[in-house]
Amino acid sequence: MSAKILSGTETAKAIRQELAQEVAELKAKHNVVPGLVTILVGEDPASQSYVTAKNKTAKELGIYSEQISLPATTNEADLLALVNKCNQDPKINGILVQLPLPKHINEARVLYTIDPNKDVDGFHPVNVGKMMLGEQCFLPCTPHGILELLTRGGVNTKGAEVVVVGRSNIVGKPIANLMLQKRPAGDATVTICHTRTKDMAAHTRRADIIIAAVGVPKLITADMVKEGVAVIDVGVNRIGMTESGKAILAGDVDFEAVKEKASCITPVPGGVGPMTITMLMKNTVQSAKMAAGLI
Ligand code: NAP
Repeated sequence: MSAKILSGTETAKAIRQELAQEVAELKAKHNVVPGLVTILVGEDPASQSYVTAKNKTAKELGIYSEQISLPATTNEADLLALVNKCNQDPKINGILVQLPLPKHINEARVLYTIDPNKDVDGFHPVNVGKMMLGEQCFLPCTPHGILELLTRGGVNTKGAEVVVVGRSNIVGKPIANLMLQKRPAGDATVTICHTRTKDMAAHTRRADIIIAAVGVPKLITADMVKEGVAVIDVGVNRIGMTESGKAILAGDVDFEAVKEKASCITPVPGGVGPMTITMLMKNTVQSAKMAAGLI
């Protein structure tokens, strides 16, 4: 069996079309234009390209976007003052501070300063807490994107054995929590594996759905999965460079071998990645609707 490819590129395209229409309607009917600000500190090339992609996508959807780039020497007080200014700015519905921040800045202090009502990354403890409780909030973008991929890809999660590999605050823990909730793409029985897990393959082999969010190229091999498993590969690992200087990417799953056993699988690139940016846009639109009293 060769797996159905769960294309994040295609799914994201469909959601972006829906969002573009929603943004146009918000403007036409309510004179509401969702606004996103991205704040980048320093010149990390990967972060620069992420921020550029986010602003480009926002513009394509009709979302007002501001890209603020600050030098790596920016001090924490100045960054906090900027975040507070954005908190007060009625044009801005979403504030994204690109991580990682330079070492001399306390990342938590910055993220906690963002108004929870503008925290479209879903990293503020208020939103994390509401997510845990199943209340309306901004869901963190990567787990949110995974839920959409599963739902739109027709993957049944109800009663499914889900094994999440990785326990980070931005992917592993939230996706595990969301999938055990009573909600679409939820109602699963969830196991989380990490570096201290004794026999990871014993867990992954009984999984109906594997979510790999590790950061180790091709960690999940074909002998670690059962026939018919659904695989979501979150990993983005740079494993080399093409002659033209483009990064060669691999996921956390040995795609070529695992796809022969899986029922469906996400590719890398073109899987979870495009969904993450799209969910940032969805959260920004949701924030604008909340600010306008429309939800
Ligand atoms: P992270 O914070 O580094 O966490 C990695 C997790 O994997 C940790 O919990 C770690 O366990 C676990 N782990 C590492 N090696 C392992 C091993 N050999 N066996 C079992 N568990 C292992 O990473 P992250 O931020 O969640 O990101 C994970 C990957 O997803 C990265 O490649 C990242 O680039 C990618 N990512 C992609 C997107 C996207 O939009 N496509 C978004 C976010 C992240 P311990 O806790 O025990 O150390």
